[in-house]
Amino acid sequence: MKRREFIRDVALSLSLSPVALLSGCQRKLSAEFVIVGSGPAGIALADSLAQAGRQVLVLEGGAAEPDRALQDMHAVEAGKWGLAYNFGWATQRLLGGTTNLWQSHSPRPLEQELHAASLRGVGKDWPFSMDSLTPWLQSAEQWLHVRPSEPAMNPALPVNPFIASSEGLRKLLTGAGYQHLEAGAYGMVHHEGMDALRLLEDGEIDRVAGLNTVALKDRTTVRRIRMSGGRAVALECADREGKPLEVEAGTVILCGGGVQTPRLLWNSASSNGGAAPGNHSDWLGAGFMEHPGQQIYGRREKALLPQGATETHLHVRDMLHDPAYDGIRGTLFHVGLKPGPQGSEFTMVEVLFEQEASRQNRILPGQKTDALGDPLPRVDYRLTAEDRRTIKVGSDLQRQLAEAVGSVDKQTALRPGSHHLMGATRLSLDPRDGVVDANLKVWGTENLYVAGSSVLPSGMTVPPTLILTALSQRLGALLSKQKKQ
Ligand SMILES: Cc1cc2nc3c(=O)[nH]c(=O)nc-3n(C[C@H](O)[C@H](O)[C@H](O)COP(=O)(O)OP(=O)(O)OC[C@H]3O[C@@H](n4cnc5c(N)ncnc54)[C@H](O)[C@@H]3O)c2cc1C
Repeated sequence: MKRREFIRDVALSLSLSPVALLSGCQRKLSAEFVIVGSGPAGIALADSLAQAGRQVLVLEGGAAEPDRALQDMHAVEAGKWGLAYNFGWATQRLLGGTTNLWQSHSPRPLEQELHAASLRGVGKDWPFSMDSLTPWLQSAEQWLHVRPSEPAMNPALPVNPFIASSEGLRKLLTGAGYQHLEAGAYGMVHHEGMDALRLLEDGEIDRVAGLNTVALKDRTTVRRIRMSGGRAVALECADREGKPLEVEAGTVILCGGGVQTPRLLWNSASSNGGAAPGNHSDWLGAGFMEHPGQQIYGRREKALLPQGATETHLHVRDMLHDPAYDGIRGTLFHVGLKPGPQGSEFTMVEVLFEQEASRQNRILPGQKTDALGDPLPRVDYRLTAEDRRTIKVGSDLQRQLAEAVGSVDKQTALRPGSHHLMGATRLSLDPRDGVVDANLKVWGTENLYVAGSSVLPSGMTVPPTLILTALSQRLGALLSKQKKQ
């Protein structure tokens, strides 16, 4: 049976028959938990709720194969500073979401990144300690098939030759004239077959959709959330033929990704007397962050890679403090090696820069509409003066690192983002500071949650998928304990 038919059958047998209600020509579905989006945030959550025996319906706007018309539903409108890059294409409207494209580098954050405000005087602290988060990071690593990359945590990992022979790099980091609050280095060596989870290709979607209490409907777009008295009472959807479908839910969890989730909340204003859920403190869409980055390519004559390894990565996370200004931000250096001709190696030193969560960088409703007539998101995004200072400090160090590793043949232009779409429904300890609380529930609502990188209150140095999956699983455990209604 082809995957597409299998998924449709699953939807028919598990979702439509037990929970469908037909009322006149308006079709209705209902479920205990409704999840919007089948990327890692949505499927990890569906998995943990279903393992606890809870009834879950996953609504996914994409199909099992790429479809241009569906992908166009993710288009974005240029904001007041133009479009830095196509954020719409940085996400996939496809079963499995953006794991169809991701590169699987997902290290754990440093503890001090969770406490940026108290330790570094910037941004906001996260309401979690590293100790409380670690079990979830571990289970997310297993779920995503991402191996822990600290050698101490993963004895099965081949010893990274680069770490052993990179004392020079270490010295460089500590002697470069900046105050390094903490520098952590970790490495991973990729061999053939050591790759992370792609939800669709690896059959993970089929496995979760095959669980007893899960139903999955693809090509189903959630257009608006209707609220009443602080409760999300219905999702107004378009089904695979574009016809209206209403879904009632005990609890709704939005897992549509870093741009589509704030967009859905904005678009819901028209069903709620002009008030967008989550915009109580004017933070909806604001604090949008990316990871600007750049690479330097070169060569080294003497190989460091072990026999049989296809590539190796050394990541160095660092908190840069330039005495010339007060801000302290993180950078993630990534030193990669690949075999070159005659025993030589190609080298690559990449750097990702942490951005400040500026209120000016914001996702807002645009003027243009998609095929269903719903407003596309408008993205106001630019590097702030503080971001530029971080970038200056980080790129100086990047060049020194590249020279220490090998030759410096080519430096790429600064790219404005790395497809890490963070911050536009940020979590906060106080409703005045954000969109969701520490349990990811939209402030002021009883049953509306968000999971995904849009809840991150600071950009940190690391790519977001490990931490967003960990938070999804943590939410799954919390919601599993909720009383059945
Ligand atoms: C080229 C590339 C490389 C990357 N590499 C890495 C990496 O190495 N490490 C890392 O950590 N991260 C990486 N990422 C980022 C990573 O892919 C994302 O962080 C992750 O996929 C986000 O998961 P998510 O579940 O929140 O959203 P997504 O994976 O984007 O899934 C959201 C899903 O929701 C659906 N949806 C959205 N709106 C609606 C709606 N209204 N109705 C119904 N369905 C809807 C979408 O169709 C989509 O399937 C990379 C991204 C790209 C593009």
